[in-house]
Amino acid sequence: MARQLLQHCKKCQVWTLQRECPQCNETINAAAPLKWSPEDQRANIRRKMYNVESEEWLASLPELPDIVSTRRTLNEEE
Ligand SMILES: [Zn+2]
Repeated sequence: MARQLLQHCKKCQVWTLQRECPQCNETINAAAPLKWSPEDQRANIRRKMYNVESEEWLASLPELPDIVSTRRTLNEEE
């Protein structure tokens, strides 16, 4: 897992790449959250890993109860 490099001590307002503040020696926080993208950059690798579209993969998928019994349950709750 990638780690945010730039750290910021809120107490001293010091920026550093170290895990401890050079002024107060306390453990300090990442300056900003890790960059995140909604695009799944490794989707192709993941699909290969899980052998997507194979029979085993299809069988491993969760199933919802059928819509008729779901509606019946919802109506009973009302
Ligand atoms: Zn500090």
